[in-house]
Amino acid sequence: MIPYGKQDISQQDIDSVVDVLKSDFLTQGPKVPAFEQAVASHVGAKHALAVNSATSALHIACLALGLAEGGWLWTTPITFVASANCGLYCGAKVDFVDIDPKTYNLCPKELEAKLVQAERKGTLPKVLVAVHLCGQPCDMQAIRKLSKKYGFKVIEDASHAVGGKYKSEFIGNCRFSDITIFSFHPVKIITTAEGGLALTNNDSLAEKMNLYRSHGVTREIEKMTHEPDGPWYYQQVELGYNYRMTELQAALGLSQMLRLDKFVAKRHVLAKRYDKLLDKLPITLPWQHEDSYSGLHLYVIRLQLDKLNKSHLEVFEQLRDNGIGVNVHYIPVHTQPYYKHMGFKQGDFPNAEQYYSEAISLPMFPKMTEQQQDKVVEVLTKVLTQ
Ligand SMILES: *Cc1c(COP(=O)(O)O)cnc(C)c1O
Repeated sequence: MIPYGKQDISQQDIDSVVDVLKSDFLTQGPKVPAFEQAVASHVGAKHALAVNSATSALHIACLALGLAEGGWLWTTPITFVASANCGLYCGAKVDFVDIDPKTYNLCPKELEAKLVQAERKGTLPKVLVAVHLCGQPCDMQAIRKLSKKYGFKVIEDASHAVGGKYKSEFIGNCRFSDITIFSFHPVKIITTAEGGLALTNNDSLAEKMNLYRSHGVTREIEKMTHEPDGPWYYQQVELGYNYRMTELQAALGLSQMLRLDKFVAKRHVLAKRYDKLLDKLPITLPWQHEDSYSGLHLYVIRLQLDKLNKSHLEVFEQLRDNGIGVNVHYIPVHTQPYYKHMGFKQGDFPNAEQYYSEAISLPMFPKMTEQQQDKVVEVLTKVLTQ
């Protein structure tokens, strides 16, 4: 089976991790700050905080932005559940903004209309999580403008967009947001096995996230309520968690960072090839905004079902049966049972639901060969035209 995504691990990656195993520190050593520094300087952000997953990064980002009971978090329904769940972790309420049928990202016009209504009802969001689906950035300029007008904070969930650019600058520089989140799960652009990172230019947000990721405990005297009892002393000043990244993960990430730009460039080569080879099929190919250099985590096609004599499910199953490890990203979050129990229902976000009924993610990963890609094209062509 040709998988839809797969990590690329080099001998240098392996050696870096083995070196850590032989060193004095398996956690809380020099590799984590070195990895943070490498990412921060690559994207042009002031602070980077590495954690054990993007899910944890989303949680501490929401906490640092003051999201709490009674507050609202808004995001897109076409995302992984983690982009919404972080609001629930904080005791806040979650709502969604429908997608733009062309970009598949949260639609700024829908957002504005919903904000106008929310202002009247007194239910404006505290935090908006803007997800760069497939790696293509959201319309951050429009979102920033609305965030200033309506007073909400912006988190970019750039789990798919590591190494991508918006308006010629690396995503993660937080020019149009308060905090940006990266994921390093093995299917994503670079990996630390499990792992994530939060970027910000704001000193106070960085300080808060630093506390939340490690028990809310500080060793800095100026943050304590009184003089330390002695050299052993630390104080818990917040309720935090253990969301720390290990040295092994950071060493892997640091080594992977050296190939980040190459990984993304290879994804662009593969995507351009797909664009050309799939041009004549009854499917909608991914649309790319000219302002963006996508991280291209995913290559999503949409079936033009009115031109096919097969269902979405049949096409999907026939691809899998023929060794093509396709996937679907994503099941609209508001249709998950957990969210339905909160009152959401089918029909709430029609563009998202329409997208879901047609979308298929084709295999794409840096190690993919032309032969593998030709096989995907051949099988897909057969399945769609037979
Ligand atoms: C993968 C992913 C996450 C969660 O990442 P983890 O590192 O697995 O916690 C969150 N949001 C999006 C959009 C993702 O794709």
